[in-house]
Amino acid sequence: MPSYKAPLNDYKFLFDKVFSVYNNYRDISNFNDLSPELTDTILSQAGKFAEQELQPLNYPGHEEGCHWNNGEVITPRGYKAAYEKYIASGWTQISEKPTYGGQGLPRIINAAISEMNLSACTAFGIYVTRDGSIAAIENNASDALKEKYLPKLIDGTWGGPMCMTEPHCGSDLGLIRTKAIPQSDNTYQISGTKMFITGGDSDLGENNINLVLARHPDSPQGIKGISLFIVPKFLVNDDGSLGKRNEVRCGSIEHKMGLNGSATCVMNFDNATGYLVGEINKGMRAMFSMVNKSRFTIGQQGTALAEVAYQNAVIYALERRQMRALTGPQDSDHSADPIIVHPDVRRMLLTQRAFAEGSRALNTYIALLFDKQECSPSEQVRQASTALLDLLTPICKGFNSELCTESVNLGLQTFGGHGFIRENGMEQFVRDARAAQIYEGTTGIQGVDLLGRKILASKGQLLKVFNKEIQQFCEANNNTGALKPFITPLAQLNQEWLDLTLTIGSAAISNPNEVGAASVDYLMYSGYVTFAYCWAMMAKSAHEEIMANGSSPFYESKIRTARFYYQRILPRVSLHAELMVSGCDNLMDTEANDFLLF
Ligand SMILES: Cc1cc2nc3c(=O)[nH]c(=O)nc-3n(C[C@H](O)[C@H](O)[C@H](O)COP(=O)(O)OP(=O)(O)OC[C@H]3O[C@@H](n4cnc5c(N)ncnc54)[C@H](O)[C@@H]3O)c2cc1C
Repeated sequence: MPSYKAPLNDYKFLFDKVFSVYNNYRDISNFNDLSPELTDTILSQAGKFAEQELQPLNYPGHEEGCHWNNGEVITPRGYKAAYEKYIASGWTQISEKPTYGGQGLPRIINAAISEMNLSACTAFGIYVTRDGSIAAIENNASDALKEKYLPKLIDGTWGGPMCMTEPHCGSDLGLIRTKAIPQSDNTYQISGTKMFITGGDSDLGENNINLVLARHPDSPQGIKGISLFIVPKFLVNDDGSLGKRNEVRCGSIEHKMGLNGSATCVMNFDNATGYLVGEINKGMRAMFSMVNKSRFTIGQQGTALAEVAYQNAVIYALERRQMRALTGPQDSDHSADPIIVHPDVRRMLLTQRAFAEGSRALNTYIALLFDKQECSPSEQVRQASTALLDLLTPICKGFNSELCTESVNLGLQTFGGHGFIRENGMEQFVRDARAAQIYEGTTGIQGVDLLGRKILASKGQLLKVFNKEIQQFCEANNNTGALKPFITPLAQLNQEWLDLTLTIGSAAISNPNEVGAASVDYLMYSGYVTFAYCWAMMAKSAHEEIMANGSSPFYESKIRTARFYYQRILPRVSLHAELMVSGCDNLMDTEANDFLLF
């Protein structure tokens, strides 16, 4: 059975050394009360909860799955008790604003806690991540709606499913058919069917505050005619108590390849009462205000599963004995050496480690951007952070989730045939990881978003901001001999990234298909370069610590993993570069019907 240990040392390294959060962010209000001691206390408690309360639910919950009974969803045994403990301890409130009952601590703290929850029990971790729904209400709803719904969403008494997808539309929300008919009392009657709704119903909270995209009858077709509504499962009285049951019901739950403990619901709205969030026809704008947060959560899911699969693969590789090392027996007390002596097993383990730790650094960088975006006193810093978040969100979501799938598969592979056996738990990680490449926008959609909507639409400006930051980092560290193996290739790739963007942008002027044809390779290329920056920052901090305080296994290991990343993973960029400039003709020359020639 798999185990899990919260990566507290890695978080300490990232917070204290790599990002110096206790020194560099003093001007940001939510960092005022943060100290290393407070962070250590919170994260070690959260880690303990993840290890002791959540991890034991993971495999049994996967085997049992959710139950549907006459429109009500029952989560696996143990989930409800753990949920009650979780919210009683105030974990859902950590980084939310104090105005509505949050504790106002930095997002980086919440991000670390989310990763631990998602590693220990991914399906459970999803139920307690609701930053996206909270952001959509906080940034768009009237004060009356905020006062009514936010406190209980934030304290975890109520859930907040996001109801966008319909049977005929997922990527293309402009096709949404769910109707919103205005009523004389300023409410709306919502009718339609949503599908794939995570936690659309569950026994965990007292109420569910569904955020629903729907269309006013007079609205234009397409994306410009979509509005956002709050549609509670139980109507809420003015004094905050629960009123009558609303006409929204869970029609069924999906039988999925993984995430069995997370209910994926068909939701039927039948003249249900809804309340407009923001302006009519501005629903997509309202959703975009939360999209960065919810996509970031999926990127974190990638890190979380890569980490737990890595931890278990390492433990197995140290115990499992097969054959002798190529250089001769390493352990003469046994008839075979542990498989960790074999270079190829090490290739698998180090790949997993480089992905898990690289993506954790990226997530921390992004969580700091959320903090700056929300709380910096400087308008310039807030705007620059928004620009970087727009650029890095599709990379975090798309790239982390792609690498996660590779990583959990390597974890399974390290177990050999035993990885294929259910009760060893490695196959659950593979199953649970797969959805991250799909929901909140597939990898294909992240690629188009990054290259088309973000980079080319801004005429390269969004990329240039990040590019300049990397260039300054390279210039500042160029003279440190020990860092040359990182800085030299990083500086070259940083320039190549701009050049490739220009090449594709120019080709796209005469043929827009060039963008779609290049986009996923461009996303992967961007991800590898972004991770290279993260690994260079980590190598620099580890090197400085060793210089200042002498050798330490943790810091030496960081530098070795950075070297592994640069020598064995980063060369993948060449392939992606070649593919993205190979043009769209090799894809578009084939007539649609010719695909049927089998
Ligand atoms: C477990 C799970 C939980 C989910 N939870 C939620 C939830 O809580 N709320 C919610 O609203 N939805 C949820 N979803 C739905 C999810 O967001 C959609 O499945 C996803 O956005 C893809 O939409 P689709 O399934 O309709 O695929 P489609 O949009 O039909 O896409 C099919 C294929 O076409 C590709 N494609 C489509 N358009 C383009 C394009 N323009 N360029 C390139 N490629 C393109 C896609 O990449 C994909 O490979 C969930 C899904 C799953 C599996």
